[in-house]
Amino acid sequence: MSNIGFIGLGRMGSGMALRLRAAGLPVIVHDVSHEAVARLAEAGAQAAQSARAVADASEILLVSLPMPDIVEQVLLGPDGVAQGKAVKIAVDLSTSGPQLAQRLADGLAKHGIASFDAPVSGGVKGAREGRLSLMASGPAALWPQVEPILQHFGKAFFMGETPGAGQTMKLVNNLLGAVAIAVTAEGMTMGIKAGLDPAKMIEVLNQSTGVNAATKDKWPRSVLPRTFDFGFAAALSYKDMRLCVDEAEALGVHLMLGTHVRDLLRRTLEEVGEDADFTAMAKVVEADAGLDPDRPA
Ligand code: NAD
Repeated sequence: MSNIGFIGLGRMGSGMALRLRAAGLPVIVHDVSHEAVARLAEAGAQAAQSARAVADASEILLVSLPMPDIVEQVLLGPDGVAQGKAVKIAVDLSTSGPQLAQRLADGLAKHGIASFDAPVSGGVKGAREGRLSLMASGPAALWPQVEPILQHFGKAFFMGETPGAGQTMKLVNNLLGAVAIAVTAEGMTMGIKAGLDPAKMIEVLNQSTGVNAATKDKWPRSVLPRTFDFGFAAALSYKDMRLCVDEAEALGVHLMLGTHVRDLLRRTLEEVGEDADFTAMAKVVEADAGLDPDRPA
């Protein structure tokens, strides 16, 4: 069996690459962080010095990278994947937006490489446990080669052949996820100021119609304990919301809520810090209402 290439071994990528190793598959990896590569090498992955070296040694290659410009550089840049000798299929697992997916498909096709976009949802825990959902698009004829690999990460949905269809689906998902955090922050802040106990509020919401992914997961794990360490950077969430609002505008859809949440994420980066987790949106809402966002649990 030939190598599977994996580039970008961060919070999400490391979990997914480790799942391929746990299934006994041969994996060749690259990341600009030596520690990230070392973790995978310990699990039996082969380490490569560059993206191109991965593409010289694997027919199917996956990338999980933080920002769209990095994805573009790693795949189409001068010493990138497109120059690789062995690669036939490149799969972008990052959230990079439908417009980049189209540019990647066009750029890679010039080198005889097929392109899939397959962004993922389910967080760091989902990546580690193989419980992600993946939203893929690309050439249907090659899906039977791609799907069995993605199934190691969770449930893979094929959204169609149009490049970027998977990315559009992912932006819609993240719009709902980010808006849920923002509105939960508003409701919780209101209740706290009125004297309600936050833990009790979450217990009630989770048995009531206000339940959502933020009340079920984000508050119990990262906001009630005041750790704000859910595992998704506010910088990445801001990137997603910018892509989402811009894409919607291009389609003639004005996202009223999405625009506000994009701006709340920008304030989170400015006021809480560039390394803030996206759950720290709650701190900005609390501070606006006169609560101390740095109070203990
Ligand atoms: P991360 O910042 O933890 O990981 C990115 C990795 O890419 C890092 O290890 C970094 O060293 C590496 N990298 C950066 N530039 C590189 C380059 N030029 N060549 C090789 N490696 C390079 O990010 P993440 O949280 O794992 O997110 C990755 C993607 O998945 C993003 O697009 C994000 O939006 C998406 N995503 C994240 C989550 C989450 O919960 N963290 C969930 C769903 C989707």
